[in-house]
Amino acid sequence: MSEVDRKKQSHRQSGAVVIERADLQHLIDALAKQGYRVIGPTLRDKTIVYDSISSVDELPIGWTDEQDGGRYRLKKREDKALFGYVLGPRSWKHFLHPPRQRLWSATKKGRGFEIKTEKEPAVRYAFFGARPCELKAIAIQDKVFFGGEYTDTAYQHRREQIFTVAVNCTNPGGTCFCASMNTGPGASEGFDIVLTEIIDKDRHFFLTESGSDKGAGVLADIPSRPATPDEIALAASLIEAASRRMGRSMNTGDVHDLLRDNPEHPRWDEVASRCLSCCNCTMVCPTCFCITVEDKTSLAGDSSERWRRWDSCFTVDFSYIHGGSVRPSPVARYRHWITHKLSTWVDQFGSFGCVGCGRCITWCPVGIDITEEVRAIRGDSVNKTEAVTQTEETNGG
Ligand code: SF4
Ligand code: SF4
Repeated sequence: MSEVDRKKQSHRQSGAVVIERADLQHLIDALAKQGYRVIGPTLRDKTIVYDSISSVDELPIGWTDEQDGGRYRLKKREDKALFGYVLGPRSWKHFLHPPRQRLWSATKKGRGFEIKTEKEPAVRYAFFGARPCELKAIAIQDKVFFGGEYTDTAYQHRREQIFTVAVNCTNPGGTCFCASMNTGPGASEGFDIVLTEIIDKDRHFFLTESGSDKGAGVLADIPSRPATPDEIALAASLIEAASRRMGRSMNTGDVHDLLRDNPEHPRWDEVASRCLSCCNCTMVCPTCFCITVEDKTSLAGDSSERWRRWDSCFTVDFSYIHGGSVRPSPVARYRHWITHKLSTWVDQFGSFGCVGCGRCITWCPVGIDITEEVRAIRGDSVNKTEAVTQTEETNGG
């Protein structure tokens, strides 16, 4: 967290309140009462997935996740934490930038077609449990979808109506590196309410702050009391400790120029020999936004639909223009992806396209690690596996 962010956080914390665990349900109820569809973390298919919730009991109570390159496992915790996990494979982009959207449909009428533009259901989402890195990812997608010359009006409409309850991270995962991307583990902006979950001896409570008038309005109706200086200090110390326990790190100082200046580095061939071009990394990434458009026509030829769906720069078709693909090889595709994330995204949008959530590392079936690839191209330090092997040898393991 930068000094500016730290100051913002400490300023906000002067108005911090405490919501007891037993009273958290009131927050979900208040959001539902205001007409929000509350989306929060739930347990599904041995992962944590964001889905509709109406009760605190639907949260992954007492579960945590272990994450490493190509590895994700849920495990029981010794306590009953509600937010004791890190992140699941799905990000909030599933709701703001859905994987599939019908744009319009056409039905034959007489000698012509009647075209109906898709009308979105008027859903107002309350995101319950967004991590600080995910707030930054939403801010990055905002720039892509309505921060420039062209606006995705459907995205903007959804985005402008959301209510965000963020949860600061106090248990970073094995693939997290938000601290080095300056996107976490404490939230500094982009939320209506932010919680820090604290389980201290026999107490379980949430240090709570509002980040907007909307948030303050909702909080006013929830049973709470002003936080004591000790409780505020405890929350700050948990977040501070989390920033020192990140599973991964990224040296961002030179990465923009490093990737731009090394298009022929031999490491690209090495990583491409492992990369399956499966697209997992782009599907789970909360900032990736690429799409394609497909038309579907009925066999009878009397109706047709146009759909927009997620695509990935790891497919050959994605860069197809007349005559062939611009990036036909895995080398070209992986190099393009990581160079966009950490170099050309800065030129395009003024920030990195990576928030250090670690999902692409966890969900890559062969464990390709964006932090390790950058280190290899820079030529510094051995990779994690080598380091572990060396330590084991040193210890006589
Ligand atoms: S590139 Fe990887 S670590 Fe960075 S935001 Fe995307 S999924 Fe997360
Ligand atoms: S880097 Fe990993 S997740 Fe991404 S396309 Fe290659 S194999 Fe799939």
